[in-house]
Amino acid sequence: MTVHFPFQNTYAALPDNFFARVAPTPVSAPRLIKLNRPLAVQLGLDPDLLETPEGAEILAGKTVPSGADPIAMAYAGHQFGNFVPQLGDGRAILLGEVIDQDGVRRDIQLKGSGPTPFSRRGDGRAALGPVLREYIVSEAMFALGIPTTRSLAAVVTGEQVFRETALPGAVLTRVASSHIRVGTFQFFAARRDTEAVRRLADHVIARHYPELSKAERPYHALLAGVVARQANLVARWLLVGFIHGVMNTDNSSVSGETIDYGPCAFMDAYNPSQVFSSIDEMGRYAYANQPRIALWNLTRLAECLLPLLSDEQEKAVAEAQDILGAFSETFSNAYQAGLRQKVGLFTERDGDEALIQDLLDAMAKNQADFTLTFRKLGDAAGDPAADDARAQFMDPAAFDEWANRWHVRTAQEPQSAAERQAAMHAVNPIFIPRNHRVEAVIQAAVNDDDYAPFEELVKVLAKPFEDQPDYAAYADPPLPDQRVLQTFCGT
Ligand code: AMP
Ligand code: MG
Repeated sequence: MTVHFPFQNTYAALPDNFFARVAPTPVSAPRLIKLNRPLAVQLGLDPDLLETPEGAEILAGKTVPSGADPIAMAYAGHQFGNFVPQLGDGRAILLGEVIDQDGVRRDIQLKGSGPTPFSRRGDGRAALGPVLREYIVSEAMFALGIPTTRSLAAVVTGEQVFRETALPGAVLTRVASSHIRVGTFQFFAARRDTEAVRRLADHVIARHYPELSKAERPYHALLAGVVARQANLVARWLLVGFIHGVMNTDNSSVSGETIDYGPCAFMDAYNPSQVFSSIDEMGRYAYANQPRIALWNLTRLAECLLPLLSDEQEKAVAEAQDILGAFSETFSNAYQAGLRQKVGLFTERDGDEALIQDLLDAMAKNQADFTLTFRKLGDAAGDPAADDARAQFMDPAAFDEWANRWHVRTAQEPQSAAERQAAMHAVNPIFIPRNHRVEAVIQAAVNDDDYAPFEELVKVLAKPFEDQPDYAAYADPPLPDQRVLQTFCGT
């Protein structure tokens, strides 16, 4: 038996200037570290065959499976606000697309599979640490119910990559509903190739927004659709304490999935200006800046689409501004609704927003752990004597004062204590991929070739809303000496 991928490739059928045809570069000794078996099944692949040596060779880019049409996609992008007219897949190769069990088209891409015409000075490779980080965090995001690319597999290549030091090389198999970015539109718009922008927009509508193809003004509707998905996505990030870290327009997906896990991190103590990325010196991509940056990125997308909106430039600009204007309200509705759920409110009343903001302010002032405060607040909803939420605050009196107001507010609703606790526990995770855990897993793998900690962390994070008493320590914030202050792109 050989591994069969039921490829049905559409992106590779687009015009030649959309990509470069390039095969992965073979590696010497591929070894499968992890296969995401449920995801393989979901994609219509045979997990047993993928775990054979032949499967590992495919997942390492040593063998190209039949039906694949390997390409590196072209894109541009604003990196930290500066426009780069050509970026492209410098270390990733799209093998092809499959239709999953839900009928959704999914890209299967190898990341770290060797140089492409877009590699510039890079080696086209990935180091093991960042591959494991992306695997852990993307799968954790999926388990949290947040739109995201997925990780199908991680392999080590048997070769070294050279960063500051020599590191084990690895390849991640990434699965996405597509890899089309805001920067993909920018690539063609920067070349004033309106026909290509139109072609790409049509492809995106057919693939991600099929319901819009019959809209009276499909390109207006497309922009509105991406605005809505990005606004909802960023709200979801904030509600779990996620910091993407490098929200460049080339890392912003038009499908509304979280993509490109580089120096991303979940925060421990609540701090709206939290930054982890070592390269984000100005705090451009700080936690609380993410909505503003998403809108900035969407404005760049709107600029690309202007020629499709109207022949008259002024009219096009006015219409684009109108559509972008919906971002704030969509974001704010999603964020506030999510916060109400997090504090266990079933109804909406005047004063709720201020009540919740007061909690967040007190959390920031008292360095309260973001995840545990909300999770333990759920316990307090079920049993007023439960005081673990209170214990998150440096000055517990600050919590008490707030909790009194909260109890008065929740008492106005008919739901029982048990109902409120269950509803809160369903939205407030107990387990998130805490930085110090991710770092420890990477150290064990890279230094000791020990993947048991990785396996265990992935297993715990697959059920983030379930108390797992055997793994209770994974819920703990870092001790002062375990704190991770910076994360790195690792490219
Ligand atoms: P990223 O920061 O991962 O979003 O990547 C930004 C750009 O740099 C993209 O065009 C990547 O393909 C490219 N890139 C990142 N790392 C490498 C590498 N090791 N080799 C070649 N290109 C790379
Ligand atoms: Mg990127």
